Amino acid sequence: MALRIIMMGAPGAGKGTQAQRIAATYGVPHISTGDIFRAHLKDGTELGRKVRGYLDAGELVPDEVTCDIVAGRLAEADCANGYVLDGFPRSIPQAEALGRFLDARNEQIDVVIDVAVPDEEIVGRLTARRTCKKCGAIYNLKFSPPASGDGTRCDRPGCDGELSQRGDDQEETIRQRLRVYHETTEPLLAYYDEHGILKSVPGSGLSPDGVFEKIEEILSAAGLS
Ligand code: AMP
Repeated sequence: MALRIIMMGAPGAGKGTQAQRIAATYGVPHISTGDIFRAHLKDGTELGRKVRGYLDAGELVPDEVTCDIVAGRLAEADCANGYVLDGFPRSIPQAEALGRFLDARNEQIDVVIDVAVPDEEIVGRLTARRTCKKCGAIYNLKFSPPASGDGTRCDRPGCDGELSQRGDDQEETIRQRLRVYHETTEPLLAYYDEHGILKSVPGSGLSPDGVFEKIEEILSAAGLS
């Protein structure tokens, strides 16, 4: 049975962390548009040059560019049994484009999970966020630091990669990303609620394990696990 999930939530809500866990537990690929764009920036590709200004400013990459990238990725063989989308769609036109892509293939999204965190918490969280340069594991120096060492290296078995801070996790850019989230992305909650597939989990006041338990409950109640 295929499992197609969309993770929603403000930047820093923890949707990437949860998407990684869902992917590892249910054996579906984790597709993060932010990760795809950052990989292109790092590799200095033409797409990377095209999107750099948007990422640096905390603005959305234009819908057409983003939708083309996602359509290409979702058509790859490893997506045949589903995927967890993290950071896409981020606007109504993107959601509509995804809907058309799925309709043409006779497929649908099973569930949209919103990880809800109050704005006041977001800035503190994002300034403490670190990502492993080697394996992509996400840490938070305040809430979920690496269990060993001095907080500068990944503690996943056999990794030991260096932790780094994302360029757009600076306070001014974070505030702009939050504005964009409320204006352009948040309306998707009502959109997916109307489609009857929206579920919400509290992303605040629970550990990452606690949030994941709630997600597992939702997936099992929906007969998806
Ligand atoms: P994220 O890692 O999801 O926080 O994304 C980082 C940045 O990549 C965003 O601030 C946007 O500039 C860009 N981005 C990621 N996903 C999208 C999307 N679906 N639509 C437009 N821009 C995106």
